[in-house]
Amino acid sequence: DRRLADFDPEVHTAVRAELERQQSTLEMIASENFAPVAVMEAQGSVLTNKYAEGYPGRRYYGGCEHVDVIERLALTRIKALFGASFANVQPHSGAQANAAAMTALLQPGDTILGLDLAHGGHLTHGMRLNFSGKLYNTVAYHVSAEDSRVDMAEVERLAMEHRPQLIIAGWSAYPRQLDFAAFRRIADQAGAYLMVDMAHFAGLVAAGLHPNPVPHADVVTTTTHKTLGGPRGGVVLTNRADVAKKVNSAVFPGQQGGPLEHVIAAKAVAFKMASEPEFRRRQERTLAGARILAERLRGPDVADAGVSVLSGGTDVHLVLVDLRESELDGQQAEDRLHDIGITVNRNAVPFDPRPPMVTSGLRIGTPALAGRGFAEAEFAAVADIIAEALKPACAPGLAAELRSRVATLADAHPLYPEL
Ligand code: PLP
Repeated sequence: DRRLADFDPEVHTAVRAELERQQSTLEMIASENFAPVAVMEAQGSVLTNKYAEGYPGRRYYGGCEHVDVIERLALTRIKALFGASFANVQPHSGAQANAAAMTALLQPGDTILGLDLAHGGHLTHGMRLNFSGKLYNTVAYHVSAEDSRVDMAEVERLAMEHRPQLIIAGWSAYPRQLDFAAFRRIADQAGAYLMVDMAHFAGLVAAGLHPNPVPHADVVTTTTHKTLGGPRGGVVLTNRADVAKKVNSAVFPGQQGGPLEHVIAAKAVAFKMASEPEFRRRQERTLAGARILAERLRGPDVADAGVSVLSGGTDVHLVLVDLRESELDGQQAEDRLHDIGITVNRNAVPFDPRPPMVTSGLRIGTPALAGRGFAEAEFAAVADIIAEALKPACAPGLAAELRSRVATLADAHPLYPEL
């Protein structure tokens, strides 16, 4: 028998252990989610065998009649979801989508203006060691020290001073909505393209709970596995025919060979789910959960322990906990939560006095738990647990009690029971 469990018990055991981990702990990494079983069925299918270089109807391989159906479904659905005229669903990841969009619009040596990594930006927005920082001349904008919000006056000043070819709006760790119209105005003034990377908040946009960047941007990129809740992957959207043509040739043959049609099938399934009323309810629970968490983590008892929330709250699916005034650093806080069964990631806060491997912050997100069915009552219970855990003086026996409260919440909302 060549089934996984028999042929490769080492891999099989680790996969089962990971399933067990996901089921028994509370997943609060803001960029993670639980792909529905139908999505995983499509991804774990025979489509993985198929070469399909090119695009539907224009392939370089025979036998593409069925993958053409699938890729067209993915394209039709995502264009409808975001009101975009053109889409490319082939990028293997969010980083690949960004690389494709940037090669489509830029020449090496051009200037890009993006949010500083340390202030919530992504590696692909111009970080020194990333392709984006190596190929392009990078200028970074920041959040303001007063309110932790993107400093649009600085964006405008830097845009006029450096005349970038591309301005990137988007983030990996930022708890507020961006003003896409203001970015558009600045890009027009500076003669720059505007790219919005909505990887984090695409699910909120699809549900109509966050402004849609597509009408404002020359190009929009996203991942499909964060709030959108699909398989790991990337997508590029645009309303401009000229940009669409360049993006298609930047993805293939520019950067990738054969598309992952099994992942594209899983994307198609996820886009169908994202158009249903249940998806909107899930995103509403996601937002409600983040608001409850933010309220709780700026309460007076945790404030006494030096814990606060960046920007004073959230409009999205995540909260940035500010530990600059706390005895606990980001690493210690992440470890404490891990110890009681809550998974988050430590995250540098803007103007962080602690080193990047330690940090003074936590990024806590609600999409995965909302996908698991958590609603306001459960999020309030989770917020209380986290607040208790972040107080520096942790009474003896407290960790065991918090661990058992986490287990009770996890048990009440079974994940993947069919697996
Ligand atoms: N863009 C943003 C804003 C992200 O947060 C991320 C992921 O962390 C990416 C792009 C990259 O996505 P991937 O990890 O699929 O390459």
